[in-house]
Amino acid sequence: MSEAPDAPRSEVRRADLLNSLGIDTWKLRSGAQPEIVVESVVNAGDFALLRSEVASCRRCELCETRTQTVFGVGDPAADCMIIGEAPGADEDRNGEPFVGAAGRLLNEMLRSIGLDRDSVFIANILKCRPPANRNPHAGEIEACTPYLEAQIEFIRPRLIIAVGRVAAHHLLDCDDPIGRLRGRVHQFGPAAVPLIVTYHPAYLLRSPDQKAKSWADLLLARECLGRKVAA
Ligand code: URA
Repeated sequence: MSEAPDAPRSEVRRADLLNSLGIDTWKLRSGAQPEIVVESVVNAGDFALLRSEVASCRRCELCETRTQTVFGVGDPAADCMIIGEAPGADEDRNGEPFVGAAGRLLNEMLRSIGLDRDSVFIANILKCRPPANRNPHAGEIEACTPYLEAQIEFIRPRLIIAVGRVAAHHLLDCDDPIGRLRGRVHQFGPAAVPLIVTYHPAYLLRSPDQKAKSWADLLLARECLGRKVAA
């Protein structure tokens, strides 16, 4: 779309910057005011700025009960992003995603395909802990989505692994059972980033008989990343 002839120069420049990052398509998926978050990232070109915006976020009521925000951990240039649901008590205390028992299992799962916490980027749909680990509310997900999408836009992963129902449903915008979503490669967003769904490690801790399926999902992830792992 061409700019109006009398659009102020700063507006034109801002539109160009957002366009060059594909932010217009990004905005289509997001809820309220995503441009506020993204514009500062674009201007600063700095992941650290996004982190500090998240740290001071007051876009939903979870800011009242959190100990701290949980931005994410790993390599901002990672090929693979792992996306979970929301911080729990351990994560809220430590400021890092997946550090409790489920996190230890996630580490093992990553290791089994030659990855670790430093070589991927791990984030959640929500950056703040829902009280008593309740499910995220729709308004909280909507308020937090611009941050996640800015992370994805910045990292530009070659593969996203959605762990668990909440992440899978939100990222794929559907409510199919996980059993029907896993085992194949989906596409996320306008950039059609390959996305694989697997069981949440907390669920695998409760239902270890499902681990074989999650192993199959990991092999699919490894295939997508084109990695070989020593036996
Ligand atoms: N479960 C999640 O989905 N994310 C975490 O960070 C921890 C537990």
